[in-house]
Amino acid sequence: MQKIIDRFISYVTVDTESDPNSDTCPSTEKQWNLANQLVEELKQIGMEDVTIDEHAYIMATLPSNVDYEVPTIGFISHFDTSPDFTGANIKPQIVPNYDGGDIILNKEQNIILSPGYFKDLLQYKGQTLITTDGTTLLGADDKAGITEIVTAMEYLINHPEIKHGKIRVGFTPDEEIGRGAHLFDVEKFGADWAYTMDGSQVGELEYENFNAAGAKLVFSGKSVHPGYAKGKMINSILLANKFIAKLPKDEVPQKTSGYEGFFHVHTVSGSIEESKVELIIRDHNLKKFKERKKLIEKLVEKLNKKYKKKFGGPIVECTIDDQYFNMKEKVEPEIHIVDIAEKAMKDLGIKPLIKPIRGGTDGSQLSYMGLPCPNIFAGGHNFHGKYEYVPVESMQKAVNVIVKIAELTAIK
Ligand SMILES: [Zn+2]
Repeated sequence: MQKIIDRFISYVTVDTESDPNSDTCPSTEKQWNLANQLVEELKQIGMEDVTIDEHAYIMATLPSNVDYEVPTIGFISHFDTSPDFTGANIKPQIVPNYDGGDIILNKEQNIILSPGYFKDLLQYKGQTLITTDGTTLLGADDKAGITEIVTAMEYLINHPEIKHGKIRVGFTPDEEIGRGAHLFDVEKFGADWAYTMDGSQVGELEYENFNAAGAKLVFSGKSVHPGYAKGKMINSILLANKFIAKLPKDEVPQKTSGYEGFFHVHTVSGSIEESKVELIIRDHNLKKFKERKKLIEKLVEKLNKKYKKKFGGPIVECTIDDQYFNMKEKVEPEIHIVDIAEKAMKDLGIKPLIKPIRGGTDGSQLSYMGLPCPNIFAGGHNFHGKYEYVPVESMQKAVNVIVKIAELTAIK
């Protein structure tokens, strides 16, 4: 366990925050610092064919140790951290034998990690937790995943009696800004399937995610002196408001869970002459997803029809762009890859928690790029903020799951 702690700390103390406003890859130069460190470490533990490309995508191989055909499997994590909260000067704190009470993250600033608010903490009584000092995020998302993959590979190298096929390891930059899979060379990776180690609590196994799109609407208006505006003024703010009011009012993030989709208006700006509305559309079900997009188009059409004469052209312009799709379409035909992960957990006494992701993962993009890629727990909680923490025991369990999947895949 000490090795896991040391390894994890050696990663999180390197700042790798990504930046959505950059258009280079990696989005920040500093991600190279950890990328180069990881390349050295992979070589040092005995991985073969360790490569890093010009965009800092790392790949490495653990060769098969059996003399019969076994599918090549992969394990993938990202080394950037979320721009939602600072990842500079992370000072991890170790809480051994957690007593189930409040954890004071920062005395001066009175920042407390409390099971009164974060109930999940109580599952980890008696375990060793790694937390922040209240001033940064921790970066367990997803340096816990990297720690687990490296540790599992090292374990397999040191235990040649465990039989496995060829295993590929992939570490990516810029997952947190939605670009982790963009430049991933699936062909070069050459695995039959892979798993991202990027979930949260122990047991999580995910192969369904949202279908996702973003819509941008621009409403036009006509500004006239308000005292003499009767029959002349068109206030684009009120048009935008009309549009928003027509969206199903219970189908919003704050009122949905599980497989329920939603519309989420996240940005509005405007004046009389022009108002902009941006929203995202989410649904696990492809048919319903398409219907949601159609509804937006219909509402736009209606407004345009209504104001055609008065305005003299389309009063609303709308663009809808697809963002990602549900990986279920690609994973379900290969459901044995989920079954193997599930069996690995059960064999280890871990209860699999299979549930739909209410978001996307790099795995969903990779699945559509030809690499079916479910997501497995990495152990951390409260990602992207100062309350982020990870139990060391959960990381150890993830290591065991990786080793077990390798073992099960090689059974004749
Ligand atoms: Zn992540």
